[in-house]
Amino acid sequence: MKVFGLIGNPVGHSLSPPMHEAAYAELGVDARYVTFEPAQSELATALSGAAALGISGLNVTIPFKQAVLEFVEPAELAGRIGAINTIDFTTSPPRGYNTDAVGARRALEHHEIRLTDRMVLLVGAGGAGRAIGFGLADAGSRLAIANRTRSRADELASDIGEPASGHGLEDIPALAADADILINATSVGMEEDVSPVPASSLHADLTVMDVVYQPQETRLLRDAAARGAETIDGAWMLLFQGVEAFERWMDAEAPVAVMDAALRERL
Ligand code: NAP
Repeated sequence: MKVFGLIGNPVGHSLSPPMHEAAYAELGVDARYVTFEPAQSELATALSGAAALGISGLNVTIPFKQAVLEFVEPAELAGRIGAINTIDFTTSPPRGYNTDAVGARRALEHHEIRLTDRMVLLVGAGGAGRAIGFGLADAGSRLAIANRTRSRADELASDIGEPASGHGLEDIPALAADADILINATSVGMEEDVSPVPASSLHADLTVMDVVYQPQETRLLRDAAARGAETIDGAWMLLFQGVEAFERWMDAEAPVAVMDAALRERL
């Protein structure tokens, strides 16, 4: 039996176990997906233990996404982002990927949204924003990154390079007018029914994607739909980061519809 899992702290709320185990059942793979919650100081011991026990792969979440870089060899994109959320222990040394970046891209592509030469307004420059920014720049998009703390947006834009620019949140109305795609990569909308984007900035020519998946229908997505924009909820990125991890580990196509159903059943 193969063992996969999620390492983070806390991980009790994770929807990854049912999503991955639904895929194993569908494909008849003898595998389990379990959660591990080591103390922050035990990360090195936990990773060497995982390798020694023959665990095949781990997803990585807060607070370990950056710290694991010290222990695994990052794939090129994960190295540029500076964060890893998927480890493959079947190689020596173990290899680390960032499937959040690819997950966001695949979520948009699944909805037949073209990314090449499109203007993306990315709101947020934290961990999720960083992964999405690099992923979409690689896909050929131009990026305007707006963040509450302006210096973080500038830093991310400079790390990504030429097609990206940094802004404060006050620039959102002007930037949204010219954007094709708007993505909320902040946590705004999760705890309270508020949006990081003024409703008056949204328009029917936009595709609006949220990273917040609980609630699925955020204030931003409701405002966007009311203005005639296409909307993509945060569960799509969550789904496709899992799909991408599954495909890296299994070297096989993931049963996307089955994983999607398992995820949405529990949201
Ligand atoms: P993070 O690194 O802590 O970054 C948080 C981001 O939100 C920063 O840009 C921060 O701005 C901004 N922010 C927080 N409160 C704000 C407020 N009141 N007004 C304006 N901006 C605010 O967190 P993260 O890891 O990027 O996660 C962000 C969200 O993405 C979370 O809700 C997380 O659950 C979600 N997420 C979803 C997926 C998915 O697959 N759907 C994957 C990863 C993360 P400052 O820089 O100014 O603090």
